[in-house]
Amino acid sequence: MTYLPLRQVHLDFHTGDDMPDVGSRFSEQDFRQALTVGHISSVTLFAKCHHGWAYYPSAMVPPHPTMTADLLGRQLAVCREMGVRAQVYISAGFDEHMAVTHPEYRNVLVGGDNTLLGAHFHQLCLNNDGYLEYLCAQVAEVMTLYGDRIGGIFTDICTPTPCVCPACIRSMLAAGLNPENPADVRRHARAVYSKFTDAVNRTVAAQDPAMPVFHNCGDLPRNDRAWVFANTAHLELESLPTGGWGYDHFPLSAAYCRVLGREFIGMTGKFHTTWGEFGGYKHPNALRYETGLSLAMGGGCSIGDQLHPLGMFDPATYRLIGSAYAEVERREPWCFGARAVADIALFTAYTEENRHICPDIGANRILLEGKYLYNIIDRDCDFSAYKLIVFPDTVRFDGDLAARVREYLAGGGRVLLSGESGRMTDSDAFFADFGVTDDGENPHDSTYLCPTYDMKGNGRAAYLMYRRGRSLRIGGGVRVLAEMQDSYFNRSFRHFCSHFYTPNDPDSHRPGCVLSADGRVGCIAWYVFDEYRANGAYHQKQIVCDMLDALLGDAKTLETDLPSNGVTTLLYQEAEHRYVQHLLYAVTKQRGRAEVIEDAIPLRDVAVTLRLPCGVTPRRVMLVPDCTALPFTCSDGCLRYTVPEFTLHGMVAIEV
Ligand SMILES: [Zn+2]
Repeated sequence: MTYLPLRQVHLDFHTGDDMPDVGSRFSEQDFRQALTVGHISSVTLFAKCHHGWAYYPSAMVPPHPTMTADLLGRQLAVCREMGVRAQVYISAGFDEHMAVTHPEYRNVLVGGDNTLLGAHFHQLCLNNDGYLEYLCAQVAEVMTLYGDRIGGIFTDICTPTPCVCPACIRSMLAAGLNPENPADVRRHARAVYSKFTDAVNRTVAAQDPAMPVFHNCGDLPRNDRAWVFANTAHLELESLPTGGWGYDHFPLSAAYCRVLGREFIGMTGKFHTTWGEFGGYKHPNALRYETGLSLAMGGGCSIGDQLHPLGMFDPATYRLIGSAYAEVERREPWCFGARAVADIALFTAYTEENRHICPDIGANRILLEGKYLYNIIDRDCDFSAYKLIVFPDTVRFDGDLAARVREYLAGGGRVLLSGESGRMTDSDAFFADFGVTDDGENPHDSTYLCPTYDMKGNGRAAYLMYRRGRSLRIGGGVRVLAEMQDSYFNRSFRHFCSHFYTPNDPDSHRPGCVLSADGRVGCIAWYVFDEYRANGAYHQKQIVCDMLDALLGDAKTLETDLPSNGVTTLLYQEAEHRYVQHLLYAVTKQRGRAEVIEDAIPLRDVAVTLRLPCGVTPRRVMLVPDCTALPFTCSDGCLRYTVPEFTLHGMVAIEV
């Protein structure tokens, strides 16, 4: 079995017209040195950049005006000599040369500004046949010249982008779409995207049907598999934690990617913030953590760098990359081909409109911080692979989904609903009778969550919930884990009390968080995952964890006392018959505009309990990659061990 290399560098090279002597100080020896010091096994190299210049002798794309050598060819020769996979980058949505020489190719947005003023790249519209033919001709040329020595084609800036340029207006009218209707414009942009990916994929396949093609869109959608599978082989998940994505984004993106059956790599950067920095460096501990996180999520790694226009490799950058990749290289044998073990499926609530405020975001944080083993699924997934499915906040059911979830429950599954999830698309009726009725939205702007037990943290209290919830009624046998108390009134100029929120009315009682009599369906009256995304209050997380634990009971595979900032996953390497538990811990800190990691704090004596399938007794448990044997006990179907110490990233192999 051949696996995708796990240690990739994405070597940005966007070089403006006025940069002198481009590539003149490139040296094969320096490149070899960078690849060696950086412990790099794969690299993305530039055929054409955002400025629209080619970095090889092209017959159709103008080479950079101050470059004389075949930079790409020389780089590829070094990769071939060193056995490093190379994929070739072609900028699609940005091509500044075309934006200037063919203004008709520029993307046009209603109310948008895409004039040539401003020191930035200008979005092109991929619906212009002239530009698409130009792009495909370059792809064909790269395949002809270098197809025998590259491992893939990578196109960039190709998200479906709404556009009302003359070409788009023409094709929208021809398709019966209304260019004045934003929904029609989005639908058309999606069709243009397919036209683009089909054209590029056909061009590549004409010369080599096995050549992988990846179209980078920044963030994979979770409701459009045709979009995702326009990428013909592996997937790259762009997620620079300090570049606006944050440290929780990659685990979310990976949790969905894991169900797609494709190898994937997490793409971060060496930059302090994001792409485009010359001289921006993050602390080595940050990169060590980020690459460890990629492995833990079941993926490989890609680190973004930017080559100096003269073609010089920056030794400090490759020392930084090497500090992370030397560790990855040692850990790789316990990572190749590993599949994540998941108890819980989070059913995605993603839509194009809510992508930045999706309930998945808060749910992912709770599952991650709560140390649950989970994947994110869509309706194409097999529900029976999971012990519990969470439908967060906004997932209403159509007839088909309702029938599938009823069947899943009948087969022994468990379900957690929040907000308006589990109601039908055309009414507030639940998909099944589990003793709970929805009476619509509770009209109180703020309400209070009152646990009926001593909740971890602050025990029994009336906890503020910041947005409206649902009004529930329950039948006999339904267990109430938390009540909902209303506030006295909604604030307005007519009456208000104190600064922001009306106090709770202790005499009001509604069901807030309930479990069905058979303990298989949990229902939370609040949009609790959006609450946690927006507010991050401890009680919002804890009530979800308590509901999940009540539903799962002893079906929970992994328990650990790793702190809330810690991350753990459990992967299985089938060929090696072993489980690998990953443990990560770092403290992120907002400093200025970046969330940084500097400190590598050792974590000691982390207790772990695993319930492996069929009560498997391991042959050996050891800390890897050092292969230090770890004492363990087995009783009551549980494997228990204590990780004595790890710093940033620890791994335990359980051989069965
Ligand atoms: Zn257009």
